[in-house]
Amino acid sequence: MVSTLMRRFGEKGGRLRLRTGMQRLLLSDDQVAGVVAFDDEGPLAVEAKSSVLATGGFQGNTSLITQYITPHADSLYLRSNPWSTGDGFLAATRAGAAATTHLNCFYGHALAAPPARFSHLEGRGRALLPSRQRNAVPLVTAPFSAVMVRAGITFTCGGLQADLDMSVLRRSLTSSTLSLIKADRDEVSLTPMANLYAAGCDLGGISTRGYLGGLATALVTRQIAGASAMYNAKYNKP
Ligand SMILES: Cc1cc2nc3c(=O)[nH]c(=O)nc-3n(C[C@H](O)[C@H](O)[C@H](O)COP(=O)(O)OP(=O)(O)OC[C@H]3O[C@@H](n4cnc5c(N)ncnc54)[C@H](O)[C@@H]3O)c2cc1C
Repeated sequence: MVSTLMRRFGEKGGRLRLRTGMQRLLLSDDQVAGVVAFDDEGPLAVEAKSSVLATGGFQGNTSLITQYITPHADSLYLRSNPWSTGDGFLAATRAGAAATTHLNCFYGHALAAPPARFSHLEGRGRALLPSRQRNAVPLVTAPFSAVMVRAGITFTCGGLQADLDMSVLRRSLTSSTLSLIKADRDEVSLTPMANLYAAGCDLGGISTRGYLGGLATALVTRQIAGASAMYNAKYNKP
């Protein structure tokens, strides 16, 4: 499937740049005009009428994990590719994009911690601490088996704010993300950043109330972001 997509991409005039890392947004008159990237030969400016950020979240960035999720970042296992280090999130927020709430939220799994030996225990069942929120089956009947686990992070759930076209949003004025009691949400103005879209785990707020599926989210949001970016490039004159 990937080779078919790559062939179609080339036939349509697309140029795939492998081993090239997006570093920051290229701004012109405060509008996004492409990206600055690095390849083996150094920096290069890639001008574009539309840009889509899809760098896969910030779970690979120890300092962002420490800032937003846990001071024990070094104790986490990374389940994802090691290149998703928040480049999309950082590039957009540095240019004024709004971040979602729940930057401390991530999807992951408990993974057996080496040497991962199972211990078989006798005794009476007790409540688990911290208590399980889902599948909270009581542990009542011995024998029990226990294994040491470590948290494994798959992807971060906080990220960039976007509208339904996957346009990245900017706050005109810096405002609080706490619930408002004295102003309507509408009064906090969030406006689309011209020419900038985001997809997948670079978007925040999708799996913050429960896991919605990583691949489905990436597929749906990439399709919308791609269509919006294409429409913008074709019809929105600079
Ligand atoms: C072990 C594992 C198992 C999973 N199992 C499932 C499952 O069963 N079902 C499910 O729905 N989801 C699953 N997921 C989650 C799913 O894979 C992700 O949610 C999904 O791939 C995220 O898509 P994305 O496009 O946001 O990021 P990715 O697919 O991670 O793509 C981001 C890409 O951007 C690249 N990149 C990063 N920074 C830069 C940069 N600066 N410049 C250029 N490129 C950059 C990265 O190298 C990467 O190739 C699993 C994930 C893992 C790690």
